[in-house]
Amino acid sequence: MSDANWGTPIEVALPSWAVALANTASPCRTDEARVALAIALARGNVEHGTGGPFGAAVFEEATGRLVSVGVNLVETRDNAVLHAEVVALMFAQRALGSYTLASPPAPVAHVLATSCAPCAMCLGAVHWSGVSRVLIGATRDDAMAIGFDEGPVFPESVRYLEARGITFVEGIERASARAVLQRYRELGGPLYNG
Ligand SMILES: [Zn+2]
Repeated sequence: MSDANWGTPIEVALPSWAVALANTASPCRTDEARVALAIALARGNVEHGTGGPFGAAVFEEATGRLVSVGVNLVETRDNAVLHAEVVALMFAQRALGSYTLASPPAPVAHVLATSCAPCAMCLGAVHWSGVSRVLIGATRDDAMAIGFDEGPVFPESVRYLEARGITFVEGIERASARAVLQRYRELGGPLYNG
C-alpha cells in the first residue's frame, strides 16, 4: 500500500474570523471574561459554519493575556482530534515554543477556558498540556443533551487530574454557552461523534 500524501504536513489553521477575533481581544482578567471569549469563539464557529459549536482559549493566569484560541475543526479538516481545546493547546505550545504550559518551565502559569466540558480526549490533552486551571462553560450534560458523545469521562478522571494540581471550575456563563449548543442544533449542524 502506498500513499502519495505520506510526506505532506497536516494543516491545522484557524478560520480567518477567529484570527481577527483573537487579534482584537483585550486581556481577560476574570474567569467569566475568559470563558466568554471561548463562548464567542464557539458562537462564531456556528455562525460562520466553520465547525462544531465549541471554542477554547489559553490565557496567562496572572495577567489574563490571551496566548491562543481554538475552535472545533473536526469537519472542516476531516480530523477527529481537532477539538477546540486541543487546537487551543497546540497553538499555545507553539507560541511558547514548548510542549508544556506549566510554570516552570514557562515563566507564568496558564489557564484553559473552554465553552463546554472537555471530552475524554481533551481531558487527556489537558493532563499533558501543563495548564494549571480549566474554566468550563456548558456542562457534559448540556453537550449530551444535543446529541454529542463526551466519551469515557468519569468523576475519578477529573479527581485524578485534580490530585496532580489541575483545578476545574464548571458552569461559568453556562446559559450563554448552552445557547450556542442549542443554536447549533436548531441550524441542523452535524453530530460527528453523536
Ligand atoms: Zn474534546
